[in-house]
Parts: sequence; C-alpha cells; structure tokens
Amino acid sequence: MKNPFPKQILRKLLSLKSLRQEQGLKYNPRGFFKSARTRKSQKSTLAILILTLCLLTQCQSPKGLGYQGNPLFAWLGGGTAEKKADPVSIYQRYPQFFVDSYEFPVGGKFGEGFYIAQKFGVENPKFGYRFHLGEDWNYIGGGDSDFGSPIYSIANGIVSLTADYGGGWGKIVRIVHKHPSPEKGQFFFIESLYAHLYTIEVEPGQMVRKGEWIGTIGDAGGSYPSHLHFEIRAGFGSALGGGYSFGTDGFFSPTKFLIAQVSKEKLMNEDQFAPALEKSLAP
Ligand SMILES: [Zn+2]
Repeated sequence: MKNPFPKQILRKLLSLKSLRQEQGLKYNPRGFFKSARTRKSQKSTLAILILTLCLLTQCQSPKGLGYQGNPLFAWLGGGTAEKKADPVSIYQRYPQFFVDSYEFPVGGKFGEGFYIAQKFGVENPKFGYRFHLGEDWNYIGGGDSDFGSPIYSIANGIVSLTADYGGGWGKIVRIVHKHPSPEKGQFFFIESLYAHLYTIEVEPGQMVRKGEWIGTIGDAGGSYPSHLHFEIRAGFGSALGGGYSFGTDGFFSPTKFLIAQVSKEKLMNEDQFAPALEKSLAP
C-alpha cells in the first residue's frame, strides 16, 4: 500500500515537541501532571487514530497489524526511520578495504557460549511452514539471559542500513562485505543482517572491522525471548522480506558459510551449536 501521508508532515504531527508547542509555554507550577496527562492522552488519541486509519486502509498482516517498513508504526515502536548509505561509492574510495577473515556474530570469536535455537532453512509451522532464512542465536543460559549482549560484525564491511521497523523485526543493522573471490583481483559482495536488536551502535556509511561491536541483543520490543536473528545474503540491497519464505534462494546458511571460512583456524561443525538445554523454538 502506498503511504498516503508524506513523512515530513507525519513527523511534525507526531512529535511530542509540536504537541507541547501547541499548548504554549505557560507558567503553571501545579499544572505539570495535568499537562503531562494531556500530552499522553493526545498521544494515545493520535495512536488510536493512526491504528484506525491503518485498519481502514488494510495495512494488515495475518498476525495482526503490519508494522514492517511503515513509518507510522516506527513511531509507535519508539523507533527511527530507515537510514541508508551506498556501500559501492565508499568501496570505490577505499579499494584496499575488504574481507580478510570471518568471526561469529555473538559470544566468543567462534560463537562460544551461544547456541542456535532455530537453524537456517527449518520449516516453521508458526509461519505457514515457510523456511527460516536466518539463524536464531541464544546464550546458553536461555530465555532473556543474552539481553543486551554485544553483537559483532562478522567481517570487515560497510554499514549499509540501520532501521527500527518495530513489530516482528525491531531494530536492524545490515552490513555489506566485499569478499575476495578465488580469481585474483576479483571480488563478490555478501551482506550480513542482524535483527531484533536492543541497541544499534553504528551509523550507515561506517566502515567496521571484523569483531567490532555493532549493537546489542534484544527482543524486538518484547516480541520474543531475546535472541539474535542473523542472516547472510548473496549480493546486497535485496528487499527486507519477512525472515521466512518458501524458498531460500539468495540466502546462505550462516553457520555453514562461517565454518567454511574459519575452518583453517579451527575444526568446527554445525552440530556443536545444537541447543544444550530443552527449549522451545525461538520465533
Ligand atoms: Zn529468526
């Protein structure tokens, strides 16, 4: 659906500051609670108005309201709009900046301390038996024990996007990596995507080194037990999608990909990340 409201107008309409300005700056030493309550009710009236509009205009998903990529809901989730940078022009300026090696996105360099709660490519009944396009990484303590834990860039790369989509995605970081191909002097691009974050610690256009702290593990605003949804995609700049699909074309199995890269340093296999404890599937 095409958004009928230009972003600038929405931002102005929805900012608390503009609400406050409308009320005027009166000297009212006892009026703080009252005015705070007024602002709150104005905010919730706006929220109800927007939800109604959304229902009327059918921006719905099978699970309820569609938050994804919708600036209206980014505001409701307390989030920020999508911010992007073009990695190609930056790579052109720094031809010597590319991938030399890889590490895992959480825990130790080789993912120590973490397990995969939901593997890549599994059919998830909660999502109409679509395939999971990433991996869900959890700390071995289970539950929310990894909330706020650091997430690291898997390799040298350029941050191409940060966003808070709210809903099922929450905060996201996308990083584009320039990977040397077997033919000398040739390169191909892959993209790593980190979702449901609690905090984002990088800006689009930023050059990050392997192992650099790029954000922290979150729960997409309370949508799930906290975990990292982690994807590796071929190429870069593909549509966000929904984290699940009937096909896995264009997506790598992240751990298989990483093991193939780090195998010179350490012998590893996918099974070592099997859930250590009895746990339900993370969404
Ligand atoms: Zn996931």
